[in-house]
Amino acid sequence: MKVVDRLLDVDAVASFPEPRWGELGENPRDLSLVTVDLGALVSRSVVWRAAGLLRPETLEELSEAGTVAERIELHVEAQPVQREEGVRIRVRGACRTVIRLACVRCLIEFPLPIAATIDATYAVGVDPALKNKNWRIEEDVEFLPDGVLRLRHLVEEELLLALPMNPVCVSGCAGLCAGCGVDLNRNPCGCRASESSGPFAVLKALQSS
Ligand SMILES: [Zn+2]
Ligand SMILES: [Zn+2]
Repeated sequence: MKVVDRLLDVDAVASFPEPRWGELGENPRDLSLVTVDLGALVSRSVVWRAAGLLRPETLEELSEAGTVAERIELHVEAQPVQREEGVRIRVRGACRTVIRLACVRCLIEFPLPIAATIDATYAVGVDPALKNKNWRIEEDVEFLPDGVLRLRHLVEEELLLALPMNPVCVSGCAGLCAGCGVDLNRNPCGCRASESSGPFAVLKALQSS
């Protein structure tokens, strides 16, 4: 861990470098159950960094949204920063995985790579704005009374936000025919052919004439 000589202003912290995806070595660290004691980082004035993998089964909500097909890769850093209101901890990083979702058009499951950047600010203790009405509310800060950051919660939150509302297998997915239910990506639909010769077609022709 790197010792901070001087607490930086929250905006002066250098940007988080683009992670070297896939370069975790032969025995990547399992970060599934890792917690970070933010209070200790503040009192010792150190930057904490880690890179590793999280097991999908430890992220329950994400596993409900779809089948997590790959372990979740995470690169993360937590750094105490000085703010007017006090010392805060800025946590930044990036995570990625592959999740299998059902296409909203054709209903077929497909693998979707998802990635998210992490940039969150925490404080240890109880939010002073809860007790003091005159305290400026720090809207971007999450207060952790026990000062313990659970990595899997942070990662899960970001990945859930990265999920598309309406997942589509390919941008041009033709979907299912509303009439006969055939997968229009694979088979031509028979509805129109029968429409032009069936009884409804005759009726249509009468109506439009
Ligand atoms: Zn589709
Ligand atoms: Zn059809």
